Amino acid sequence: MMQYDILIIGGGAAGFFAAINAAEMDPGAKIAILERGKEVLSKVRISGGGRCNVTHAEFLPKELVKNYPRGEKELRGPFHQFMTGDTIAWFEERNIELKIEEDGRMFPVSDTSETIINCFLSEAEGLKIQVRKSEAVKTLHWKDSHWEVGTQKSTLSASKILIATGSNPKIWKLLEKLGHSISAAVPSLFTFNIKDNRIADLPGISTHAEVKVQGEKLQDEGPVLITHWGLSGPAILRLSAWGARELHDLDYNFNVEVNWLPGFSSEEILEQLKVLKFELAKQQVFKKAQFELPKRLWQNLVTASKIEGNITWADLNKDELLRLAQQLTAAVFQVNGKSTFKEEFVTAGGIDLKEVNFKTFESRIQNNLFFAGEVLNIDAVTGGFNFQNAWTGGYLAAKAMTS
Ligand SMILES: Cc1cc2nc3c(=O)[nH]c(=O)nc-3n(C[C@H](O)[C@H](O)[C@H](O)COP(=O)(O)OP(=O)(O)OC[C@H]3O[C@@H](n4cnc5c(N)ncnc54)[C@H](O)[C@@H]3O)c2cc1C
Repeated sequence: MMQYDILIIGGGAAGFFAAINAAEMDPGAKIAILERGKEVLSKVRISGGGRCNVTHAEFLPKELVKNYPRGEKELRGPFHQFMTGDTIAWFEERNIELKIEEDGRMFPVSDTSETIINCFLSEAEGLKIQVRKSEAVKTLHWKDSHWEVGTQKSTLSASKILIATGSNPKIWKLLEKLGHSISAAVPSLFTFNIKDNRIADLPGISTHAEVKVQGEKLQDEGPVLITHWGLSGPAILRLSAWGARELHDLDYNFNVEVNWLPGFSSEEILEQLKVLKFELAKQQVFKKAQFELPKRLWQNLVTASKIEGNITWADLNKDELLRLAQQLTAAVFQVNGKSTFKEEFVTAGGIDLKEVNFKTFESRIQNNLFFAGEVLNIDAVTGGFNFQNAWTGGYLAAKAMTS
């Protein structure tokens, strides 16, 4: 039976990061990565539209954690040990420069995930980490003083194991047998499917808005993007992440209320409309967008308020003004289903966080069993935060496994 000091299960972001750091911290350690697929790092390859959004330019732990609907409390301590600045330095030390985009997302300057993959592969090779592909772990047993790990090809033994298998139900089943509780997996980071004339002909339009799920305590403010299928953009994606469980329980059928003029109430906008009725008396309402709204969105909202195309501001009656104020500040859209956000999608669910020591990422149930990445019930909004969780967990687990 092959014997190892550390076996890493899962050749993804967290697994590689942990293996490389562990090998550097303890150069004598015998380390292998077991990967069920023919290829390693396949999610890294497709991440960020092929560019790999490695991390996010947020350098305060207390601000960074706000991006994790699950894991907010638990990651605060770990981020004080290893976070975004450390990630940037880690890659810089390996001659990979990261750049910051306007919205804070950070990518390799090369704009390709290949740079990150090549770095991991060459580091692993240089550090003599065995990468065993096509080895899916099927069994895990603690025998006296070591772990016995069974794959379809072999049985291996190790003093310590790190589970970095991402959102994989089969491994969660094995971990349940070892005494862990698993929070059921549901999708996070998705866009809302909406068929509605107000947005049907406007794909590509993006505007700042306030969005609320009716009947739930879920709301957000930020850019909202109209797509061929419905609504997307950062504000919608954040709602989908924070509401991952609630929206799943609603079977993705719910109403979302959009305030296209965030910060203003219906009453305030009604007062503004009355002023416009006086000031723009002779102008047609339909023709010129107000409140700096995109013109075609304005026109669709005017039409939805049942205001005829040729009506002038002076001719607007009380009901029309009320309906327009309503459409501008509390337009209700019926959501029927969701679509995948292709740049980045994740699953909420995984190992119950109460069962993990976040100083070491070690199991509180079994000794010498460690976790990192998406296998835990941790996930984030879009923007590079999911990888940051993998880097932080991988690093701290490596430190604990080698100390
Ligand atoms: C399309 C897409 C784009 C994304 N883009 C970004 C982005 O730009 N920025 C960002 O921060 N996040 C992004 N994410 C999320 C990010 O990819 C994940 O959060 C991250 O990969 C999690 O890392 P991990 O190591 O925990 O899991 P994974 O990367 O999923 O790796 C787990 C590995 O374990 C292997 N495995 C599973 N079961 C077994 C087993 N039984 N035995 C052996 N091996 C096993 C799997 O084959 C896999 O290789 C994206 C996700 C997707 C799907």
